Amino acid sequence: MKIGVLGSGQLGRMLALAGMPLGHSFSFFDASASTCTEGLGPVTVAPFDDIKALTVFAKGCDVVTYEFENVPCNAASAIQAVVPVYPPPRALEVSQDRVVEKEFLQSLGIAVPAFMAASTRDELIAACRAVGTPCIVKTRRLGYDGKGQARISSPEDAERVWEDLGGVPLIVEAFVPFSRELSVIAVRGIDGQIKSYPLAYNIHRAGILHRSEIPAPGISQSLAQDAYSIAARVLNELQYVGVLAIELFEVDGKLVANEMAPRVHNSGHATIDGSTTSQFENHIRAIAGSALGSAVSRAPAVMYNIVGTLPPEQSVKDIQCAKLHLYGKSPRPGRKLGHVTLIHPSADDENALEQLVRGER
Ligand code: AMP
Repeated sequence: MKIGVLGSGQLGRMLALAGMPLGHSFSFFDASASTCTEGLGPVTVAPFDDIKALTVFAKGCDVVTYEFENVPCNAASAIQAVVPVYPPPRALEVSQDRVVEKEFLQSLGIAVPAFMAASTRDELIAACRAVGTPCIVKTRRLGYDGKGQARISSPEDAERVWEDLGGVPLIVEAFVPFSRELSVIAVRGIDGQIKSYPLAYNIHRAGILHRSEIPAPGISQSLAQDAYSIAARVLNELQYVGVLAIELFEVDGKLVANEMAPRVHNSGHATIDGSTTSQFENHIRAIAGSALGSAVSRAPAVMYNIVGTLPPEQSVKDIQCAKLHLYGKSPRPGRKLGHVTLIHPSADDENALEQLVRGER
């Protein structure tokens, strides 16, 4: 099949790397030229509001998917008038606005932090009082990797945060005293079949995912079932096709949903080397109408992101259980340049890698 991908970053790259051995060919559409998909297929560079360019792109594809959730909904709709778009554009609508997303999750009986919308400085002050402090304030739209958010310890901070976040519509969320962060990655096929990966245990640094472990250790069967049920409710409600990720807080043995991503997800990168079928392959299988592959883990896998600077390649390769994945990007502070997955690592393997990715060796 000819698969079109909106976006040409590392997720697009890994989708193509998974889909090409299955016989698919790829093309990409992006607002700016990127190096991540070089050699993997043609890239159309045009703005996402260029309906003519989107239509021409769509005409060259059998199916179109996307690798980031801020694809404008009318771009997805314009393409859908020509070829199927998976996941369904409604998943974009829901996940692009944190208030709509939380209301959607709540409507499915999924626990979320107490929240309130605030569109003015006064509403922000009132929302902080109503939700209680400490609370987390986030822009409703376009936040990622911890950007566009602030913690408020007392309502007096609200004025400053309103200015800092640029005076845009906000969501105020109760601070969740979580014991750890987990995510569930699940995939739904065109026929409605669902497969879920073992939960991932995620650790962030400076708002960016640092370490992700699949399977998350110490997960009871009932907690895993709760997570799978959360994912299944979202997938079925949206008549979803493809991979979906939901970030979760574990608090007092229960799950509270933080946010959803209608795409392959950074916390699922360990599935490339650790699972029978990677999240990328399963996304391609789903959107191409093929049977889904097993989501079972082959081995415990721990992924570390490479952010900002590249560690010495040879030192990473010297760790025998390490699988290095570079995205071909030039280093820049805060930029995800690649990841390394350790398969069944010892404590020494992990320590060595941790030092390398922190730039300490
Ligand atoms: P997000 O952009 O919503 O994924 O938030 C980035 C990170 O901020 C999360 O991974 C958490 O570590 C933290 N965080 C976000 N929302 C909350 C919350 N309501 N309570 C506590 N921590 C939060």
